[in-house]
Amino acid sequence: MSNAIDRRVAFVTGASRGIGKAIALRLAADGRHVVCVARNADQLQAVVGEIAAAGGAAEPLACDVGDGEALAAAIDGVADRCGRLDILVNNAGITRDGLLMRMSDADFDDVIRVNLRSAFVACRAAARPMMRARFGRIINMASIAGIMGNPGQANYAASKAGLIGMTKSIAKEIGSKGITANVVAPGFIQTDMTEVLPQALKDAVMPNIPLRSFGKASDIAAAVAYLASDDAGYVTGHVLQVDGGLAM
Ligand code: NAP
Repeated sequence: MSNAIDRRVAFVTGASRGIGKAIALRLAADGRHVVCVARNADQLQAVVGEIAAAGGAAEPLACDVGDGEALAAAIDGVADRCGRLDILVNNAGITRDGLLMRMSDADFDDVIRVNLRSAFVACRAAARPMMRARFGRIINMASIAGIMGNPGQANYAASKAGLIGMTKSIAKEIGSKGITANVVAPGFIQTDMTEVLPQALKDAVMPNIPLRSFGKASDIAAAVAYLASDDAGYVTGHVLQVDGGLAM
């Protein structure tokens, strides 16, 4: 039985922490019903609790986005149950860094599966309800590594460059159905993912950032909120770099 929701529904992957959590909080503050997706159910519950405490609407959905069948079923389930799926944010991502000569096939394949293949599966599943509604906002989380490359990240940079090409292709395919597809490409943002980087590397990067600081997760959430909004209705196939000027 469908339990139709009267506000826009956003499906946000990697919402248990970091950038994805900030996106979930921001979209909820903007009045969306946010489906928060990641593997860690406890962390998702905490994020949903935070949103509810602030007066927003959200639900947790534990899912490994690397499992294509489970991800597609999760999206179909949300669209059926909510009667709509307006906004898709493919944000979940991993790194398995290593220099080319030492990178294993498994480390290459894992990163492509979680970062790129999952977004393909999710876009394909979400396109159906979006086309039916003749409205949709797809936002894929790349990285400036997908634009500039980065030593030790052949797998990660390939996944992020792949997201850019895929998103532009999708934008051309389904723009006529009222669906936009865009990319956000963050630079260095303070999260668990960058916390583990050696201080020497962070110190070396800083002089190349014209704004002289690392970004906050809320900076990325603001870009996503814009691309998800009615104000961005004439923006598609775009790569919005949010990087303090690092990749100019
Ligand atoms: P993070 O703190 O490591 O968080 C990653 C998120 O992805 C978590 O919520 C994690 O949740 C989820 N995730 C990972 N593997 C998953 C899987 N198989 N299935 C479902 N969820 C999964 O990373 P972040 O810094 O917030 O990065 C978010 C996105 O921004 C990523 O795509 C990343 O590549 C991109 N980005 C980050 C930076 C940066 O400087 N931080 C820069 C450029 C791009 P669970 O562990 O609970 O599953």
